[in-house]
Amino acid sequence: MFPVVMPTYARADVAFERGEGAHLWATDGRRYLDFGSGVAVTSLGHNHPRLVRALVEQAGKVWHVSNLFRSPGQERVAAKLVANSFADTVFFCNSGAEANECAIKMARKFHAESGEPGRCEIVCATGAFHGRTLATIAAGGQEKHLKGFDPVTPGFVHVPYGNLNALRAAIGPQTAAILVEPVQGEGGVVAGDPDYLRRLRAAADEFGVLLIFDEVQTGMGRTGPLFAHQACGIAPDIMPLAKGLGGGFPVGACLATAAAAKGMTAGSHGSTFGGNPLAMAVAEAVLDAMLEPGFLTNGAAMGARLRAGLDALCSRYPAVIEEVRGIGLMIGLKARIPNTELIARLLANGLVTIAAGDNVVRLLPPLVIGEAEIAEALGIIERTLSEVSA
Ligand SMILES: *Cc1c(COP(=O)(O)O)cnc(C)c1O
Repeated sequence: MFPVVMPTYARADVAFERGEGAHLWATDGRRYLDFGSGVAVTSLGHNHPRLVRALVEQAGKVWHVSNLFRSPGQERVAAKLVANSFADTVFFCNSGAEANECAIKMARKFHAESGEPGRCEIVCATGAFHGRTLATIAAGGQEKHLKGFDPVTPGFVHVPYGNLNALRAAIGPQTAAILVEPVQGEGGVVAGDPDYLRRLRAAADEFGVLLIFDEVQTGMGRTGPLFAHQACGIAPDIMPLAKGLGGGFPVGACLATAAAAKGMTAGSHGSTFGGNPLAMAVAEAVLDAMLEPGFLTNGAAMGARLRAGLDALCSRYPAVIEEVRGIGLMIGLKARIPNTELIARLLANGLVTIAAGDNVVRLLPPLVIGEAEIAEALGIIERTLSEVSA
């Protein structure tokens, strides 16, 4: 019989029923250490009292009213995002793909409003990931996501990630925007060089195109600062966000400067559920927690600690781990054995990790992680590497 849940995922045969901080418990009672965070989503860990309180309190007030009315929750979360970023304005949606769709539409509308409707092409990078809608699989440009879904949505070209000359050569009178991830996540935890990201800003300014940094995965403290590009001293014009923003409640956002958003007038874009009161209550609690003194510095310090331990393991098990890469608590282990095999063995030993492209095992622990959990994870990884080597 065809599975009742459409089989679009190769799921591990583990069902989690409860979580607390960095730990998860499966239906068979087994305890796991969660270094996947549901793909960089549950950055405050599971069952965080502050998030639970925010959601339950809002659930007793009002769940949904549509975007046809004022939204105090959106006004508060947008004001906090704006106060802590380059942006002047925020559109709320429900996922990373939708946040990217908004970014793409906004870039095209910007040029249409500027009297250049022919500027509609987006220059993207190879190895990119921007979501699974028809436009965002075209933006990602990966054969494995596009295959069988022809026709490919037009308007996207690809140049090698990190290659500035190729990028500059791809920009022409048809170009609306440059769209890249500051660190490619799904592509294999490939960090853009800060100088490359700065030169993207310069190229965008030189050619009069918009710069979009997809921070759906890197944003909300994952790499250290609240947004990854903040470490580079430059800012994009548009920034899609999602994953960590809701701490596990589905929510997305597209941040922009007022100039970039000039075409986003009433009726130009919308979402029934986007930024509904439940999502906003949780996102506000997430932001408040992340903006408390010490929160982001803890994540950065724990990232450095985890990285040091992994580097040591990598040099002891060079036959299994080729390289450790990434920034902050967004770390990739480039494996020499199939990454799926290493992930299955880590899971069997009690550690949840996530696959990425280029045969990489991704470690995305909650940002609230402490030294004890890092030691626990390093212990499981060491045991697994020694088992694999035996
Ligand atoms: C996960 C991800 C997306 C897509 O987010 P969804 O919520 O799955 O639609 C887009 N861009 C990046 C960089 C991502 O990591």
